[in-house]
Amino acid sequence: MTLLVVGSVAYDSIKTNSEQRTDVLGGSASYFSIASSYFTNVKLIAVVGNDFKRKDVDLFNSHSVDLSGLEIKTGETFRWSGMYGKDVNIRQTLSTNLNVFSDFSPKLNLSHVESPYLFLANIDPEIQLDVLNQMQRQPKLTALDTMNFWIEGSKASLLKIIRKVDMLFIDSNEALSLTGENNIAKAAKQIQNIGPGVVIIKKGEHGAILFNQDSIFIAPAYPIDNVVDPTGAGDSFAGGFMGILAASDGDTSDINLRRATIVGSIMGSYAVQNFSVHGLNALKLADVTARYNKIWAMSKFESTGESKSLPWSQFKPHG
Ligand code: AMP
Repeated sequence: MTLLVVGSVAYDSIKTNSEQRTDVLGGSASYFSIASSYFTNVKLIAVVGNDFKRKDVDLFNSHSVDLSGLEIKTGETFRWSGMYGKDVNIRQTLSTNLNVFSDFSPKLNLSHVESPYLFLANIDPEIQLDVLNQMQRQPKLTALDTMNFWIEGSKASLLKIIRKVDMLFIDSNEALSLTGENNIAKAAKQIQNIGPGVVIIKKGEHGAILFNQDSIFIAPAYPIDNVVDPTGAGDSFAGGFMGILAASDGDTSDINLRRATIVGSIMGSYAVQNFSVHGLNALKLADVTARYNKIWAMSKFESTGESKSLPWSQFKPHG
């Protein structure tokens, strides 16, 4: 059941249309581990500087995230800053300072290297490769997330790691930029041809598309009318998704992957309702179940197999 994650633990500075926050807990591994901790045991591999605050360590502890792989190094914690305009789907990165991440060389302990589930969250693909190489046996499931920063700056190593994983989570624009395609379905196919049989294309408030071998599932986003800060939605999505797979003993049947995609959407929807990880902080499983059922109710429709009374079934076009 153990899910190992390597990724960034960061201090983010965020400007939205109406508010701003400085140096709040962020990072791909932070959102991912807190979201997945509702479903499974999580172990985190990352590095922070000696400016990392006690209250943030306590927050991970309150979610039982295993921090034995969190190195504390002299220097500053990774810093990222970003800005959203009126359209919260459009984000501008203002700065990325890797700080202690620039020469991070993770050392996995015995309990880490035997984890059956591995998530390589958005971070330098060289670090992702290093972690995968240290795994004692091939994990039952490996998944990867990335972003433009690495597609533009480290494409060769990124392609190397994409070839080795079972699943890839990627934002729709990033999928196009990675593949040079101008169509999502073609981009997903191209990525599947590189390696991962499962590709999850994230489309922000428009949901996500799961490409599982030859099967396609369109998942809605849970509609939120008070989006406060979209940062971390993608990582929280991946946390919910991988949490479900780990909790179900690595069940990769199509129906379970669809279930995981919906739970991913739900965790993303909670993440955007507050700054930092606060939207995810105090959930109950009953909250997740309630949104799961609402999404089902919002998207169900009859199939032609179940009904012969579709309004156009008797229609004879043009006599
Ligand atoms: P998301 O909104 O899901 O794309 O995730 C945003 C989080 O990713 C923020 O909390 C950032 O700290 C983190 N982040 C931003 N840029 C990078 C990067 N180049 N490498 C790793 N993490 C990053």
